[in-house]
Amino acid sequence: MAELQLRDVRKSFGAFEVIKGIDMEVKAGEFMVFVGPSGCGKSTLLRLIAGLEEITSGILTFDGQVVNHLVPSKRGIAMVFQSYALYPHMTVFENMSFGMRLAGADNKECKRRVRAAAELLQLTPYLERLPRQLSGGQRQRVAIGRAIVRDPKVFLFDEPLSNLDASLRVATRIEIAKLHRSMQGTTIIYVTHDQVEAMTLADRICVLRDGVVEQIGTPLELYERPNSVFVAGFIGSPKMNVLSGSFAQPYKAHTIGIRAENLQIVDQGGWAGSVVHSEMLGSDSYIYVDVGVGEPVIVRENGTSRHQPGEVVQISPDHSHVHRFDAAGRSIGRAEMSGAHHELQIIVKL
Ligand code: ATP
Repeated sequence: MAELQLRDVRKSFGAFEVIKGIDMEVKAGEFMVFVGPSGCGKSTLLRLIAGLEEITSGILTFDGQVVNHLVPSKRGIAMVFQSYALYPHMTVFENMSFGMRLAGADNKECKRRVRAAAELLQLTPYLERLPRQLSGGQRQRVAIGRAIVRDPKVFLFDEPLSNLDASLRVATRIEIAKLHRSMQGTTIIYVTHDQVEAMTLADRICVLRDGVVEQIGTPLELYERPNSVFVAGFIGSPKMNVLSGSFAQPYKAHTIGIRAENLQIVDQGGWAGSVVHSEMLGSDSYIYVDVGVGEPVIVRENGTSRHQPGEVVQISPDHSHVHRFDAAGRSIGRAEMSGAHHELQIIVKL
C-alpha cells in the first residue's frame, strides 16, 4: 500500500511534450482509473509511474520518497498489460512463480504465494496447465496472479481486459473489483477506454486530455458535476447531449449538456424533432431525435419505446439536470428554470 504524489510531472519525447505538467495524488489503497481520448498520454503516465520511462521534469514520490530515478524493480510495483505475455513453455505455476524465483525467493515461499494467489483468482485447478490450454480470461488471470505474488505496493494495469470478449470482460472486471477488496488496500492505477470499467471499478477517475488533467473525482462526481463540456462528453454512455445557441440561451449559458435519462418525450411544449433511430435494449430504449443541431439528441425511455423513425416528437429536459457551460466549455453550474411566462430563474448548483 503506497501513496503516490505527482508534482508538475512532464514528459517529452524529443521536442514533443506528451505529459504537460501533472499534479495529482493517489491515496494509499485507492483505485484510480485514467481515462481520456487516444493519444492523451494515459499509458505514458503509467509508464512514468512504473519507471519504464524517465520523467523529463517534476517530482514523483511513493510514500513521500522521491522515486524519479529509482529503477522499476525497486519501486514495489507490478504491472499488467493488455497482452498477457505469459511464457508459453511454462506451466501456470511456473509463470506465476518465475519473477519470485528470479528475485531469489525459496521454493516453499514461492509455493505458498502462488497457491494463495491462485486461490484468490480461482486458478487452483489450472496450475499445471500450459497457457495454450487456458481461455483468454484464464490467461489474463494468470498475468494478474503473476503480479499479485510479488506483493506489490502499487498495481498498474494498462487496459488489461481489452483483448477479452464482452462476457469475459465483465467476469474479469468483477474479479478485479473483488481482488481490490480482498487485497486490503493495495493501491491500483488502471488505464482503460471502457466507460463501464471506469465507472464501476474506480474510487476516483482522472480524465486526461492532451497531456493535462482535465478533472479528477469519484465516478458520480464526474457524472453529475463535469467541470467541462469535454468531461461531460467523455464520462457516461451514451455521452451527454450537448446543445448550443437557442437551446442554451434560456439557461443563460453558451452550451448546455443534458443526459439521455434527463430528457423525456412530451405531448407538447418541448423541442420539436424527428425520430431518426431507436435502439431497444430490453430494459431501456434510446431514441435518437434530430432537433436540427447536427448530432441527434438521445432520449432514454424505460422499457420498449413506441416511437418509430420518421415520427415527429417533442422532447423536454428535466431543468434541474441541465448542465451549463460558458463559451470556453467550462462549467458554470447546473440550472433550474422556473417561473411563469418564461421568466427565468437560474439557480446555480455547483
Ligand atoms: P491510447 O489510448 O491510444 O493507448 P494513450 O492515451 O495511452 O493512447 P500514449 O500511448 O501515452 O497515449 O501516447 C501519448 C502520445 O505520446 C502519443 O502521441 C504517442 O504517439 C506519443 N508517444 C508515446 N510513446 C512515445 C515514444 N516512445 N516516442 C515518441 N512518442 C511517443
